[in-house]
Amino acid sequence: MITISQTLKAIDESSYEEVVSQCIERIKNNKLNTFITIAEESALEIAKNINSSKNHLQPLAGVPVAIKDNISTKGIQTTCASNILTGYVPPYDAHVIERLKEAGAIIVGKANMDEFAMGTSTETSHYGPALNPWNTDHVSGGSSGGSAATVAAGEVSVALGSDTGGSVRCPASFCGVVGLKPTYGIISRYGLISYANSLEQIGPIATNVKDMTLLFNVITGYDSRDSTSVQIEKDYTESLVNDVNGLIIGVPDEYFGEGTEPAVEKAVWDGVHTLEGLGASWKKVKMPHTRYALAAYYIIAMSEASSNLARFDGMRYGLRLTKDHDWHTTYSEIRAKGFGEEVKRRVLLGTYALSAGYMDKYYLKALKVRTLVKQDFDLALKDTDVLIAPTMPAPAFKLGEKISDPLTLYLADVNTVPINLAGVPSISLPCGFDNGLPIGLQIIGRHFDEETVLRVAYTFEQNTDFHTITPEVR
Ligand code: GLN
Repeated sequence: MITISQTLKAIDESSYEEVVSQCIERIKNNKLNTFITIAEESALEIAKNINSSKNHLQPLAGVPVAIKDNISTKGIQTTCASNILTGYVPPYDAHVIERLKEAGAIIVGKANMDEFAMGTSTETSHYGPALNPWNTDHVSGGSSGGSAATVAAGEVSVALGSDTGGSVRCPASFCGVVGLKPTYGIISRYGLISYANSLEQIGPIATNVKDMTLLFNVITGYDSRDSTSVQIEKDYTESLVNDVNGLIIGVPDEYFGEGTEPAVEKAVWDGVHTLEGLGASWKKVKMPHTRYALAAYYIIAMSEASSNLARFDGMRYGLRLTKDHDWHTTYSEIRAKGFGEEVKRRVLLGTYALSAGYMDKYYLKALKVRTLVKQDFDLALKDTDVLIAPTMPAPAFKLGEKISDPLTLYLADVNTVPINLAGVPSISLPCGFDNGLPIGLQIIGRHFDEETVLRVAYTFEQNTDFHTITPEVR
């Protein structure tokens, strides 16, 4: 794995162009299928000219970055890993891309993901799964699997993902890297192609908490083009303090349910005890509505998806069928060919949940459950500073193991989706290994209190060495 400071040092010792071209070579040689599009030409062009722009003075000057393929990049194909967007080249940049460019970062390509961010393993990608660098027989997690795997494999030092129900934290956990799902509203979603917009946020992924924070600092900030964007200006690097003295950690039993592997349970408790040894205290907290969160999440996410994906009609973006037909035939033909099985399943179920007669029973009920889940967090965090729980109940599963059984796959999200329902921030970072595969620990905080979450994560990292262990990429 490589850090931002190692990348900057390499630039000092060679050149912007050399560092970008080496990065692209690594991506091509690894065969982990981490990227859908490699932006070789534009990345090299920017690297060549960076000295003549003012960008070489910026904090991420020349640092190669991978972008999940559901974030719009001007001039670079953006597919959401779906056949329906094949060939779509956005005419504009997402807010986060504008910010990254201003900070001098160089976009080397678009990272592989589950189709329209629907999945937990990157196996629903039209382009095939991104492989786990720790063991290529295993999934990299999802839906931002390409973003986490490329960082874990040392192809790039930082990447962006998006997290609707765990898609930054799950692959971060499975690939042994650090990922943040920020508070809803902190990062503009302008230019993020929506899956379930009331739940999702763009999030940074890196090999360590400091790099992740540097990236986070760059992409946060108010944006009038996103009506949910919040006006907060903070320098989050100030939270990187190696001190948890006096902090209170809440541990919810509900997050160590039936499917939790013993190795995961042990590693997470060891993590809590590490922090206890550093001056924090812990207590059990009750989050009784956790058991309803998964069902509520899937109803809300699918309902929003059915509405958000209606725009893919074969007229405006991407894939086109040449045959001359009436509107209904064209619309159904393009969607039949353009969407994969999981996307179709969700559009159908979401449409059903929103239809007259069923809306009260499913969608509105799910919204009520969402309020109760949020109340659980408000109460649990009233007299604690953060909550700690396993990110995923088990380490990365094998490719093909769960993909044919959607319900089993959905169950893997049990510990990540409540956080999105509530809109609170959460970081996943490595806390152990089981059979050579990484285990992730999740630190959850109050709304807009990324500072405490970062402080606890930084302290944990400074006092453990899990982040220094690197996979041997085959
Ligand atoms: N696995 C979850 C889903 O399929 C979360 C996906 C995400 O966060 N984008 O909905």
